[in-house]
Amino acid sequence: MFIQSFKVESPNVKYTETEIHSVYSYETTELAHENRNGTYQWVVKPKTVKYEFRTDTRVPKLGVMLVGWGGNNGATLTGGVIANREGISWATKDKVQQANYFGSLTQASSIRVGSYNGEEIYAPFKSLLPMVNPDEVVFGGWDISNMNLADAMARAKVFDIDLQKQLRPYMEHMVPLPGIYDPDFIAANQGTRANNVIKGTKKEQVQQITKDIKEFKEANKVDKVVVLWTANTERYSNVMVGLNDTMESLLASLDKDEPEISPSTLYAIACILENVPFINGSPQNTFVPGLIDLAIQRNSLIGGDDFKSGQTKMKSVLVDFLVGAGIKPTSIVSYNHLGNNDGMNLSAPQTFRSKEISKSNVVDDMVASNGILYEPGEHPDHVVVIKYVPYVGDSKRAMDEYTSEIFMGGKSTIVLHNTCEDSLLAAPIILDLVLLAELSTRIQLKADGEGKFHSFHPVATILSYLTKAPLVIANTKFFLSINCLQKLYCKVIGVGLVLQVPPGTPVVNALSKQRAMLENIMRACVGLAPENNMILEYK
Ligand code: NAD
Repeated sequence: MFIQSFKVESPNVKYTETEIHSVYSYETTELAHENRNGTYQWVVKPKTVKYEFRTDTRVPKLGVMLVGWGGNNGATLTGGVIANREGISWATKDKVQQANYFGSLTQASSIRVGSYNGEEIYAPFKSLLPMVNPDEVVFGGWDISNMNLADAMARAKVFDIDLQKQLRPYMEHMVPLPGIYDPDFIAANQGTRANNVIKGTKKEQVQQITKDIKEFKEANKVDKVVVLWTANTERYSNVMVGLNDTMESLLASLDKDEPEISPSTLYAIACILENVPFINGSPQNTFVPGLIDLAIQRNSLIGGDDFKSGQTKMKSVLVDFLVGAGIKPTSIVSYNHLGNNDGMNLSAPQTFRSKEISKSNVVDDMVASNGILYEPGEHPDHVVVIKYVPYVGDSKRAMDEYTSEIFMGGKSTIVLHNTCEDSLLAAPIILDLVLLAELSTRIQLKADGEGKFHSFHPVATILSYLTKAPLVIANTKFFLSINCLQKLYCKVIGVGLVLQVPPGTPVVNALSKQRAMLENIMRACVGLAPENNMILEYK
């Protein structure tokens, strides 16, 4: 049975006019490697920590500014939201199609609430906590091309023509603000597009972005803004001591107009200085260590990297299933071809390299989880190929071959072929990213013994379900990152280990775990136990 909403009644949960306050017992496990009578052994102790969560239930009017607004994703998302808001339907060769939010975790998926008279009861995911209604989001943003959004939608060739005709009047007056353009960071083939650019030094460009955000907020009377990068994939920035390894060095480099600060990092600096959440939907290392340092110092939310939309999403499900079933994937080969502007930009080796890195580490955590199948350091062969084929446009083809070792030396090969408009996969993910980023800024928590409530860590791992290479913070005293040559630079700082997903970092990529993390944190905010699927009542 499906219900639309529910209210939790518990001594541990209080609803006031402005917040939900919950007290939550976090059941976890503590591990130690201890010397017991001369031999080391692993000791595992169950542990309960009391947490309190406070969720502000006042849902703001939200503005979303997209970097790369006139691209395929930007135009598709903007048109899709307008179509939903206006209740637009259109004729296809099959049927009359209604606008919907299929593909959005927050808008189109459900959670299990419990069972009632032996029947499982489900409710919309978005009914867990008060969230912004996507129909009410105001869109804006920047693009290095001044094409209006109606023409950009036509250029993208994603929507049916009948839908485009209905959307055109709403979108033709939408023109992106000039963007920060640096031809050194994206493919040379993008040069002809760049007719709408901010002039000046890097510092002046950051100041312009800050001004744009303030003016957008004022003009649209929005309470909050989230900025999301859905512009072209950039090459990796070099990461060097003294250039961008700390907040101080990054800000000093900005003053010196250092060429190695990428446009995406400049937008992110402006957002952090304005305390506006910034999400990176592309694979490049926008979040150089100095930028992460700045976000931490300013307690301003950042999240990324790279939307997890198609092939990688499948991979993070399939490999989890195989390894979890005791089957050993030994070779994973992924081909893609696509013909949109993203594909054209990725046809340059430096930008392709960013995508390759982002796609490459996705099975590491699953492989490392099973020491019966894999020796330490052993890894399946994993190859990713992307080719630009203009004819297929936005309709990306992804072909994957998974070869695994099964019982008694047998081999199993699974082949997948997916054809799908890339932007129709990405648009609902962008929506989830901005809605969840906004929500997470309204949640405060504190563990037993902590004096004050605090927000989530500014590096938003809560968004990892939606990103290919989740940005993480781990807790040691070293600071690592990678440059485009994948060299490692280390430096001791006080705040902890900042890892920008170099190979072998403890990032969770398995999709079901990422989804469970997000859902269970939201459940904790209303005092509900995590979904453990034990159904002991019926055992
Ligand atoms: P697109 O090329 O259609 O759009 C990108 C837009 O960014 C263009 O309009 C371009 O003019 C603009 N742009 C480039 N540099 C800019 C800058 N510095 N400032 C402002 N605007 C700038 O690409 P798309 O298909 O919309 O994809 C966007 C990004 O999302 C790509 O980096 C892609 O790799 C990433 N991505 C997409 C998917 C998906 O579509 N399924 C999945 C994962 C990641």
